Amino acid sequence: MVCTMSDTADVIIVGGGVIGVSIAYHLARRQVGHIVLLERDSLGCGSTGRSVASIDGLTLQPRAAALFARSASFFAHCDDLLGAPCGFVQTGSIVLAGPKQEERLGAAVSRMQAAGLDVQSLNPDELAALEPRMVLNGVASTSFTPGAGYADPVLTTQALAGAARRLGVEIQQGRMVTGLRCERDRVSGVETAVGPISAPITIVASGPWSGELLQTAGIKLPLQPVRHPVVCLRRLPAFGPAHHSLLDLTTGIYGRAETGGLTLLGSINPDVGYDPIKVNDGAGYVHDDYIFWTMARLVQRFPMLKSSELLKGWAGIMTITPDWQPVIGRWPNMPGLYCAAGFSGQGFQISPAVGDLLSGSITGSTLASEFLASFAPTRFDAKQLLRINQEGEMYGLLG
Ligand SMILES: Cc1cc2nc3c(=O)[nH]c(=O)nc-3n(C[C@H](O)[C@H](O)[C@H](O)COP(=O)(O)OP(=O)(O)OC[C@H]3O[C@@H](n4cnc5c(N)ncnc54)[C@H](O)[C@@H]3O)c2cc1C
Repeated sequence: MVCTMSDTADVIIVGGGVIGVSIAYHLARRQVGHIVLLERDSLGCGSTGRSVASIDGLTLQPRAAALFARSASFFAHCDDLLGAPCGFVQTGSIVLAGPKQEERLGAAVSRMQAAGLDVQSLNPDELAALEPRMVLNGVASTSFTPGAGYADPVLTTQALAGAARRLGVEIQQGRMVTGLRCERDRVSGVETAVGPISAPITIVASGPWSGELLQTAGIKLPLQPVRHPVVCLRRLPAFGPAHHSLLDLTTGIYGRAETGGLTLLGSINPDVGYDPIKVNDGAGYVHDDYIFWTMARLVQRFPMLKSSELLKGWAGIMTITPDWQPVIGRWPNMPGLYCAAGFSGQGFQISPAVGDLLSGSITGSTLASEFLASFAPTRFDAKQLLRINQEGEMYGLLG
């Protein structure tokens, strides 16, 4: 077979993580012409491959609610939609709030319900019946999302990439983009080590490396790479069936069951487990103090998990923005350039909506552009951030 490499395209996507392949697939469905996706390494090797891949079905952040709601059914129906599995396992998800977070959780439940998702507020008796192994000290209110769960990030990426290829997308792995090409105040394609590619539209979906790539066009965005460790343990058989996914706002942890009797565990406290790094320093490994911090909080809720086999875990790189919301859209003063980055720890579960809405916006849907307006890259000037603060959003993975 002879492989030829294009030197022109209608759209170039830089990055083959779950976001890049979702955009590629959704653009191809809209028949935008010749789409080339460039991945410097292999598909899913960045943040995506390290993801816990939880699909919570609920967010406390008002602006993100629509993205969560629009993505919800994709994972459960991936096989039907793409003809390939994404490894979705429905576990249901419980959120625990203390008196301080009670009001925000109630508002989030109402928002998700209004968006059409099955999210229920449970009283302590109902929760105890659902999960009798859980201790509810300090819990003022709870929610339950029956359809929540987790998927396999590698399978999901491959399913989207396969469907994109079948629709004609050219995916080149092992091809690094070394810079954006700028001509007369517009971006006109990319430079790579083996030659440039021209295109009227270039989309930077390069995960934690997006900031450095945008800088080659003179654009500075506050995209901060952070290392996020995930603890892994094996539950003992005496624990019984797998637990529901848990987001504990009172203690600041998440935990979800994993195939094979495992539980994955991490922090949702922005002060723990989100250490800023230089992107090319790597994610490092899981330190003991983080394991103790997360385990102590998990055992507070599930005392039976004290007797578990600790398997340590892994760390990955997330990209955080000042308001913990993604950057999705274009620059009015830089035609030809779009970006989808800064997912602040939630990019996996909203990847279907991001691909759908960004491709809708590129192909002229006003509705899609309106949806994405609050994620505009240009919001990071002082006035915009002030306005976001006044909306009363607290920053952090779940606020
Ligand atoms: C430990 C961890 C746990 C997480 N848990 C969850 C979770 O439970 N739920 C959830 O929704 N989200 C979670 N996330 C976040 C989620 O995984 C990310 O938001 C999502 O994977 C981002 O995908 P991406 O495609 O933007 O980035 P990436 O997956 O990083 O993809 C970017 C790709 O671009 C490529 N690239 C970079 N620079 C270039 C270049 N110059 N030329 C060509 N290619 C380039 C990289 O090689 C990479 O493959 C987690 C993240 C981590 C790290």
